[in-house]
Order: sequence, then C-alpha cells, then structure tokens
Amino acid sequence: MPRINSSKYESEIIDAYEVDDQYDSFKKDKFKCPECNVQIQFNRGINAIDPHFKNWPKKSHLSNCEILKIHKQHNKGNNNDIEVLISTILPRAERLQKLNSIEKIRKARNRYFGKRSKQFLNSLTSISYEELKNLTIRTENKTTVKIIDLIMRQDEIINKLNSNDESFVCILKGYTTKAVEIGENIKIPMTFGGKYGNSQKFDLFIPSSYKSKNDKNINKIESKLIYCYGLPEKNEYGSKIDLFSITHQIAIIER
Ligand SMILES: [Zn+2]
Repeated sequence: MPRINSSKYESEIIDAYEVDDQYDSFKKDKFKCPECNVQIQFNRGINAIDPHFKNWPKKSHLSNCEILKIHKQHNKGNNNDIEVLISTILPRAERLQKLNSIEKIRKARNRYFGKRSKQFLNSLTSISYEELKNLTIRTENKTTVKIIDLIMRQDEIINKLNSNDESFVCILKGYTTKAVEIGENIKIPMTFGGKYGNSQKFDLFIPSSYKSKNDKNINKIESKLIYCYGLPEKNEYGSKIDLFSITHQIAIIER
C-alpha cells in the first residue's frame, strides 16, 4: 500500500501539502498516481500533520507501476524516515525554470522548497549511511534515482553545471562559512581549498526579497556541515544555490 507525496491532478503534478493547505479547492476523487494513473486518495495522516496520498479503497497500482516496485524493493520495517524518503517523488527542475509569471514561480517554490523538502532532509539526516546507500526514489520525469546520487559536493555540482545545459535538483553537502552582505542580498560561501577537498567556490545565496524571512536563522547555519536542497546555477557572479527558506531547504548534519 504505497504512500506518495505527489499526485496527478488535472494533468498537473501536485504535492500533498498543497492539498492540505487548500483542502476545499480540490475534487477529492480526481487524484491519480503520477506513474500508472490509477485513482489514489488524499490522507491528512496521523494527527493531520502528515499529508500524503495512498491507495483508493479496493484499487491497486498497476502491476508495472514503478512506484509500486520501489516500495516492494525496500524493506521499511517501522522506519518512518525510510518511508518518507522513498515515498518522495522528486520534482522536475524544468518545472520551476520554465515558469514565466511571478505568481506561478512563487507557487512552484513553495512546492519545491516547502514542508516536504524539510521532512525529506530531516529524514535524510536521521538514517545511517548504510541504510541510505540502497534507497531509490522516483522523479517526476519518470526515472529512478539513488538518493545518494542526489547528494553532491560543490565540485561535482560545478562540473555538472559546466557539462550540462539542463537544470537539475540536488542536495549539496558541504561546510558553510560566515554570511556576508552583497548589496541587498546575503551570501553564505561554502568552504573551499581546505581540508574538505573542494577546490572551487560555491555560495548559498539569499535574494534580498527573501532576506527578512530568513534573517533570524542565518547564524544557525554558519560554520556547519549541512545538506542544502535546491537548484544549482551559474551566473556571472559564480556558482550558487538560491536559498528561499533556510528552514525548508537546509538540514544541519553535525550539530
Ligand atoms: Zn501507480
């Protein structure tokens, strides 16, 4: 009985938290599995704090559904963190990149860098590397990826940016330094050239319009080993990941 965080709704892929936030605006019998199109059901979860999609009563995913396969392949036991990780369907980076209205971009950012990514990152820091090693997840563009392949050091990210025109989502693993102001914006440079083996500069970048939202949390993530979930990019100022929400995009690995 696989749980997933996303569903297809009127040809769009939506996140369970989105449904939870605007419960009355969705027709509850219209959710479908993004892979096999079978009808699925929205559920708010225990104590209504864990929204997800699950099987519609007496309807199963088709036997060739890849989501079903992933769930069969991993023995979750009672490990809720594994459940969270493998029930995640990774959003497509292009979906965010190709949007042209501010309202759509805002909505997509909430979807990408919202409560689900926070939950995902927390689960990531909670389970052992041994357990993590074998876990796979499905992406919206219908490929199966190993979670550890999403976790990248900044040199790997920069190399991929240099060799690849397509945008991609990833989880940066690295050490932060002290935040610095760049005009109205804030940048948090990652360490490089030192003992952690990264040779190239990379920054986390908080655009000015997101500064007030993140102000209080900046010092909590300085000089820490972190995971940062986001869309890496390269421009004339260097390579970076935009940070819209520290709470939802960053998990501290060493406390
Ligand atoms: Zn399915």
